[in-house]
Amino acid sequence: MQQYLEIKAQHNNALLFYRMGDFYELFLEDAQRAAELLNITLTARGVRKGKPIPMCGVPFHSVDRYLRILVDKGETVAICEQIGDPSTSRGPVERQVTRIVTPGTLTEESLLDEHQNSCLMAINLNSETVSRFGVAWLNLSTGEFKVTEAVGNTALQSLVARVAPTEVLVPSRQITPINNPEPTELDDLQFEPSVAERDLKQHFQVHDLSGFGLDDQASVLGAAAAVLKYAKDACRQSLEFLTNLHWDRSSDKLQIDAQSLRDLELTHRLRDNSTEDSLAVNLDKTVTPMGSRLLREWLCAPLRDVDVVEQRLDVVQSMLDRQSMNEFADILKPVGDMHRIVSRLALGNPSPRDLKRLAVGLESFLKVIGLVQDLALPIETENISSIDSLVSTRELIDSAIVESPPATIRDGGMIQSEYNAELADIRQYRHNASSILRTYEAELRLNTGVENLRVGYNRVHGYYVEVNKSTDFEVPIEFVRRQTLKNAERYITPRLGEIEEEVLTSDDRERKLERRLWDELITRLQQHVEPMRQIADALSRLDVLRAFAELSQQRQYVRPAFTSESTIQIKMGRHPVLESDPSQSFVPNSIDLNPMRRMLIVTGPNMGGKSTYMRQVALLVVMAYSGSFIPADSVRIGPVDRIFTRIGASDDLSGGRSTFMVEMSETANILNNATSDSLILLDEIGRGTSTYDGLALAISIAEDLLDRVGSFTLFATHYFELTSLADNPNMAANVHMEAVQHQGQVAFLHTVKEGATSQSYGVDVAKLAGVLPHVIHKARRLISELESSALRAGHDTLGLFNTPSNPAIPDYEKIIAELTSLDVDSMTPRESLEKLYALVESAKQSVSDE
Ligand code: ATP
Repeated sequence: MQQYLEIKAQHNNALLFYRMGDFYELFLEDAQRAAELLNITLTARGVRKGKPIPMCGVPFHSVDRYLRILVDKGETVAICEQIGDPSTSRGPVERQVTRIVTPGTLTEESLLDEHQNSCLMAINLNSETVSRFGVAWLNLSTGEFKVTEAVGNTALQSLVARVAPTEVLVPSRQITPINNPEPTELDDLQFEPSVAERDLKQHFQVHDLSGFGLDDQASVLGAAAAVLKYAKDACRQSLEFLTNLHWDRSSDKLQIDAQSLRDLELTHRLRDNSTEDSLAVNLDKTVTPMGSRLLREWLCAPLRDVDVVEQRLDVVQSMLDRQSMNEFADILKPVGDMHRIVSRLALGNPSPRDLKRLAVGLESFLKVIGLVQDLALPIETENISSIDSLVSTRELIDSAIVESPPATIRDGGMIQSEYNAELADIRQYRHNASSILRTYEAELRLNTGVENLRVGYNRVHGYYVEVNKSTDFEVPIEFVRRQTLKNAERYITPRLGEIEEEVLTSDDRERKLERRLWDELITRLQQHVEPMRQIADALSRLDVLRAFAELSQQRQYVRPAFTSESTIQIKMGRHPVLESDPSQSFVPNSIDLNPMRRMLIVTGPNMGGKSTYMRQVALLVVMAYSGSFIPADSVRIGPVDRIFTRIGASDDLSGGRSTFMVEMSETANILNNATSDSLILLDEIGRGTSTYDGLALAISIAEDLLDRVGSFTLFATHYFELTSLADNPNMAANVHMEAVQHQGQVAFLHTVKEGATSQSYGVDVAKLAGVLPHVIHKARRLISELESSALRAGHDTLGLFNTPSNPAIPDYEKIIAELTSLDVDSMTPRESLEKLYALVESAKQSVSDE
């Protein structure tokens, strides 16, 4: 307990998994907490301060399963191993924390989600300037180490949404506008610029940090050092393989802020945050997990550099022209998660199977080089250095590791006998040992004349000679009785002892030798980590581009054309996710935005397809700048610097903001940050407040975007008044979603037509949705009344009140009048029954008219 408490005191924020034999045990408060989180039995062991000590434990061989649960719940776990040898230790065996498992520093295959990046981020507010944040993030599984400065809360939130860190570190006194994930507070000292500078210089082995662009960047410096130190502590390693740090320049990328990322459902569905039906999942035809993760990254950060985008498109085009997608898929599939394997190698803890897969990955890469050269594909494989050394690396792995290696190195058996002569000898001896025993057994049978004498083995007594009790024979002098069973006697002999000794020491020698050979192999392979990382990068890029080519082929996508003119022209565009839903037949729509037509006021019925149309435009722009072909007949796009969306109503209860407040904060962000190159989608701005306030706000926001900002804006609205913005035909235009009424039912055609519509069909949609008939009826009557009172008051106003052709209002009053005029007492039973039938009939009639 004393040893436990000493170690625990150094890891107060973590659950301490304390190794005892075949179990990791937890004690005291940790035990209580873990038992609850893991749903395992809480027991007790020993007594402390007069009370039983709570304890629970998990078997060491299935620890990953439990770690995964804890990490998913955001817990940090310190793994404390037995370092000393229990057989030689006096007192408690020496123990040490060998790894701290935190959500942002995972590299273990069993703990990681193959489709999600796992990444650690530090955010450090610049103390002198308001809302300038130094940010650094480290992805241990790709070796990516990046820094940037985010100016303003919104920029920070966008960055966090894009990078999606699994763990965020902040100085304890800082107020950080991030709550997902909940930041981990560190001592402010960890961010201290002078200490940070010293640590980074030491890590990168440089005299000054100007080569990394970190001069005069105190807050960025602090963040970078904090991330690095935290990761080093967690892995208990010096992380020497991190040899570089890059600036992430937001100006290189098409900016999509946090809210827009969510609204556009790029990686997660808005409704329930599941990944299903997101753009990333819909487009994901990659065949490796690292390709799948890269696809998500590309979609969340499309490029602004058209040259690079064109290079990506060239590769897609070449693959399509040469129909080489299947060939590439066959080569890439076996590569698996090379990025993460290389990271585990860099950290010194790959599994034998990892190495085998690494050899397969290298082999695939060599095939890729051949194919790329044959096809003259513009892929940067030539940048990869030391290809020859890769061939020998692959050969080294293949010669060292057995064909079907075990999952861990724990029980040995991963190194091939042919790899090392000494290992081969030991194994040969072990192999021979059984025949030595058989020969010895035959010898004894001959010498004693006992036919049924047998040499056996058990774990408690080791090797023995067994003779049936009923056998009458003269026990040789060298036989020493060891065990008496019901029917047999067991003996040991000096020769058996010798054989046993040799077998056991050879086991031990084999284990130690294999471990040494393994460690040497890892050290040799670690020298090639950098080129192997580059290969993993190249293969994942190729995987994404191959996926784009396959999609283009399967779904008839076209190559987008880029222009320096300010325009977004899409002919017959389709929503990529909706069009792949087999239960819907999707209606394509076009858009033409240009300097003379910067804003479209999109009107039309509820459920008409306004939001779909607007989202579709943004998604196609995102896809184009990510390097994908597009679901459309043709696409021509000019520069786009940012995409902003304000779609759908949601409140932010935890942030203390009402629905309308959220809507206006998002709008304020758009007005403050949009430029003439931005694409803005506004869906029903101003609906969350009173009609007049909302309308007034919607008009002034739209006018500001037109007059001052000059961005490309799609503005969906039910306020008919907004359509008059198109009176200025040089800037704005009206379009509407078409719908028709047929036999009292509204039918949505989902086609975009020029011009405005005044019909909302709100009540029709409510009826379709199953709102009770009498409520629908009342709503229709109210619309009529409201319209006529509006007319009487002299303002034929709000588009709100516009209804489709005046529907026949069922005459409930007439029924009521009839009922009140009845003198039931003077009616015969038959008359009253007939009246009742008549009334029911006319009520039914009214409802069915509805
Ligand atoms: P509201 O005003 O009520 O928000 P809306 O006009 O924004 O409605 P959407 O939400 O875009 O309507 O679309 C409603 C439904 O119509 C979608 O869920 C989709 O199923 C279908 N839809 C939209 N556009 C199309 C299209 N182009 N082709 C086929 N179906 C479509």
